[in-house]
Amino acid sequence: MRMGLAANAIHHDHDDAALFRWLRACEHGIRQLNLSLHAVGRTYAAIARVGYLEEYPGLLRYPYGHEGGLMKLVAEVVGMHEPQRTLDGAIYLINPVDPSSTFPEAVALKRQCVIHQKPFISTVASARDWIEMERIHAGLTADPGADDLHALESQTIAMIAHDAMKPQMMAYAADHFDVLARFARRVATGTTGQQLNELAWSRGWPQDKAWVDRYQSGPMGGDAQIADLVLERRCQRAIFFEDPHVARQHEADIQLLERAVTTVTDETVCMTSPRVAARWADAVRKRVHP
Ligand code: PGA
Repeated sequence: MRMGLAANAIHHDHDDAALFRWLRACEHGIRQLNLSLHAVGRTYAAIARVGYLEEYPGLLRYPYGHEGGLMKLVAEVVGMHEPQRTLDGAIYLINPVDPSSTFPEAVALKRQCVIHQKPFISTVASARDWIEMERIHAGLTADPGADDLHALESQTIAMIAHDAMKPQMMAYAADHFDVLARFARRVATGTTGQQLNELAWSRGWPQDKAWVDRYQSGPMGGDAQIADLVLERRCQRAIFFEDPHVARQHEADIQLLERAVTTVTDETVCMTSPRVAARWADAVRKRVHP
C-alpha cells in the first residue's frame, strides 16, 4: 500500500509533535504492513532529523510544498498511469490555523480522497486508527496500544450524511448496526439522525427511545453543534459522508467541523467515505473475533 504523507509545520517542529506521536505509536505497524509513505519535503526531512523509519526503503521523498509536493500527491490520489504513482490515500496532519492547510492543493487532496473513496487521514487519532485497522485486515494480532481506539462502549460517534449520501449512510448503518450500537452514544445532524432512528426502530430498537441524539440539521447549524462536542472531547469518532459534487450552502459549517476534529488531533477519528468506514467496521469485528 502507498500513502501520501504531509504534516503542517507545528506537527513536525519538535520531537513530541503530532507526526512523531503517530510514528512512535505506529512505526512498528508501518514496517509490518510494508507501507510506502510518499512524504513531502519538509515532512520527510523532519522524520529523518528525529530518526524515525531509519533505513526504511518505503519512505520516499517528495518535493517541498512550495515546489509542488502536495500538488503531486493530489494527482497520485486520483491515480497516474504508473502504478507506483497511484496512492491508496493520504495522511495529512492538519493544523487548522496554518494558512497552508486551506491552500487549494490541501482542499483538493481531501476532495479527491473523498471522490475516489480513499482514506483521508487528518488527525493523529485517525492515523493510529487506520494503521491498526490495516494490521487487523492483514491478519496481525491486535496491538494493545490501540485498545483505546476500540473502547467503543465509552465513546460517542457522530454520523452525518449530505442528501445525496443519505442512502449510503442508511445502508452503512444497516450493515454495521452491531458495531454502531456498541457506542455509548450516537449523535447526528437532524435529518440524518431522523432517518437513522427510523432504521433503528424498524430493527426493534425501543420505539420510545432515540437510537441517535439529533442536533440541528446541517444547514441550520448541526455541524457547528457537533463540532462543539468534538472540541469538548465528548465525541471520539465522526463518520461524515460528504457530497463533494455539489455547492454546499453551509460550506463554512462543514469546514468548521473538520477544523474542530483537527484541533483535537489526538482525540478524534474522522472517516470520510463509505468504503473506509465499512473497512473500519469489519476490522472492529475482526479484532474482537479474529
Ligand atoms: P442533515 O444535515 O442530516 O440535517 O441533512 C447534514 C448536512 O447537510 O450537513
